Amino acid sequence: MLNHNKCPLCGSDEIFVLYECEDFLVTGEKFPVSRCGSCNFTFTNNFPEEKDSVHYYDSDEYISHSDTEKGLINRVYHLVRKWMLSSKFRILKKESGLKKASALDIGSGTGYFPLYLQKRGWACLGIEISKDARDYAQRKNDLTLQSPDYIEDLESGSIDIITMWHTLEHFYHPGKYLDAAFRLLKENGLLVIAVPNHWSYDAKKYRELWAAWDVPRHLWHYNPETVRMLAARHHFKLRSMKRLPFDTFYVSILSEKHKKSSLPLVRGLITGFISWMNSLLSIRTTSSLLYIFSKY
Ligand SMILES: [Zn+2]
Repeated sequence: MLNHNKCPLCGSDEIFVLYECEDFLVTGEKFPVSRCGSCNFTFTNNFPEEKDSVHYYDSDEYISHSDTEKGLINRVYHLVRKWMLSSKFRILKKESGLKKASALDIGSGTGYFPLYLQKRGWACLGIEISKDARDYAQRKNDLTLQSPDYIEDLESGSIDIITMWHTLEHFYHPGKYLDAAFRLLKENGLLVIAVPNHWSYDAKKYRELWAAWDVPRHLWHYNPETVRMLAARHHFKLRSMKRLPFDTFYVSILSEKHKKSSLPLVRGLITGFISWMNSLLSIRTTSSLLYIFSKY
């Protein structure tokens, strides 16, 4: 187990335990979520070493997601996925001003995002640490994803856009990937990072049951301030933030399930709606945020 008695972001030893959170997905084990009293950075503590982390991803949700379109839930899932892919693609085109670009997606899972971009004529390489996920992408979509070691062989200053969709919170060494992103991006390249935000209404409402703590798979829990601090340390400056609407509702419904509430769907949709309205007043309280960075 990896214990932090100093803040991994600012080095302060003013650490306190915020919540004891449960691994609802795989093991039912409990992990403390700690916070730095100095910079507010929040992180899972006593989490497993990287070599043992695979066990905590041992769930179907992390690999196949049902690829069948039978049944209402699967149809809705596929529609939402399609809509999310197209809205992410729109954001990339608008923010970069490019009609075609070279992209690198770090943490591709089973590869739907690189595949979507490739089908639209973009050069997009996907990096994925899980061999099972890479094999699945190859088998299902004839899509080749690479392991993280491959990043070292890529040419410096060769990429327009690097994306990390809900992956920075999983990385054991986020700084290593940010440094790699800095090296690989062209001078006017963009780094696009999506992560959950514990400043959201839903995080405050569900407290230790908030689904986006997702211990011990999520190691680091960001807010707009700590994302900005971390990125600045690796020579990136924040250009803009965008709301990711679907996540607000998804996280709220899942949190209601953790709470064992009756009618999790209805209650989750109501909380998601309140959280979304809040985020319209202040984007910094959006449940999941997309950050767009450029190089300093
Ligand atoms: Zn700190």
